Amino acid sequence: MAAQIIDGTVIAERLRAEIAQEAARYAAQAGHPPGLGVVLVGDNPASASYVRMKRRACERAGLHSVGHLLPATATQAEVEAAVNDLNDTPAIHGILVQLPLPDHIDEETILRLVSLDKDVDGFHPINIGALAMKGRDPLFTPATPTGVMVMLREIEAPLTGANAVVVGRSNIVGLPVALMLLKANATVTIVHSRTRDLAAVIRGGDIVIAAIGRPEFIRGAWLKPGAVVIDVGTNKIDDPASERGYRYVGDVAFEEALPVVSAISKVPGGVGPLTITMLLDNTLKAAWRTLESR
Ligand code: NDP
Repeated sequence: MAAQIIDGTVIAERLRAEIAQEAARYAAQAGHPPGLGVVLVGDNPASASYVRMKRRACERAGLHSVGHLLPATATQAEVEAAVNDLNDTPAIHGILVQLPLPDHIDEETILRLVSLDKDVDGFHPINIGALAMKGRDPLFTPATPTGVMVMLREIEAPLTGANAVVVGRSNIVGLPVALMLLKANATVTIVHSRTRDLAAVIRGGDIVIAAIGRPEFIRGAWLKPGAVVIDVGTNKIDDPASERGYRYVGDVAFEEALPVVSAISKVPGGVGPLTITMLLDNTLKAAWRTLESR
C-alpha cells in the first residue's frame, strides 16, 4: 500500500483557523487579544526569518505581538532587561526567546528568567523538568516536539508499546520529543552521533523521529517496513535546477523511504508549519489561564 504523506501545512491551516476563532472569543471576553513577546538577539538570518514568520502568523490569527530586537553586541543585562520587561507587561501572555543566543549570552539564565506562566516555548528548566517526571505535567511543552506529537495523533499512529527511535538529542527537539513519546507510553530509544550501528537501531523503530540536521542522512534501507517517520530536519541544499538555486530536504532520504514506510512527513511543509501553530496555541492557552486566574 502507498505510504501516507503527512502534510503539516494542511493540518496547521485547520488548527490555525480554530486558534483564530478562539483568539477572537478570548479578545471579546478579555477586552484585548492574546499577546506574544519575542526577543531576538543578533542578525542570524534564519532566526530573523523564523521571528518574522512567527509574528506574521500571530497577526493572521488575531494575536498581538511585540518584538525586542537587540543587536548581536547586546549585553547579558540588556537581554535580561528585555525579558523582564515582557514578564512585567500584562498584555503579553507568552514570551519567546529566539535561540540560539550569541555565545556571550548565558542562555540558561535567560531561559530561567522567563516567567513560568509565560513560558510558551516550554524551555524553562521547571517545565522541562515536569516533562521528564512521571505524574507531572508541564504548563507548556516545546513547540516543535508538540508539533511532532500532533502529527502522530493526526494519523492515529499507535503509540502505546510502540518502539520509537528518536534520532538526535538536542534540547529543543530530540530530548523533549523523546520525553513526550515516553509520556505517551512508547518504548523510546534515543540515538545520537556517538551511537554504534545507527542503522540497526533505527531499523527497530515502529516510529522514527529524525532531528539531526544532516540532509537525507537516514536511508530507506535503514527503516522498518511499515514504520511511521516524522522528519524534523530542514536542510538547505544546492539545486541548480531550481529557480532559487537551492531547496530544502529532510534528514531522511524521502524517495527511498516512500516504498518502505506506512507514513512519512513532508519537508518542507511538514513539522515547520506546526511548530509555529503550537506556539500560537500555547500563547492562547497562557492568555486564557491568566484571565481565568483573575
Ligand atoms: P542540533 O544540531 O542541536 O542537534 C543535532 C542532534 O543530532 C545532536 O543530538 C547530534 O548528536 C545528532 N547528530 C548529528 N549528526 C549525527 C549523526 N551523523 N548521527 C547521529 N546523530 C547525529 O539540531 P536541532 O535539534 O536543533 O535540529 C535538528 C534538525 O531539525 C535541523 O535540521 C533543524 O533545522 C531542524 N529543526 C526544524 C524545526 C522545525 O520547526 N521544523 C525546528 C527545530 C529544528 P550529538 O548530541 O551527539 O552531537
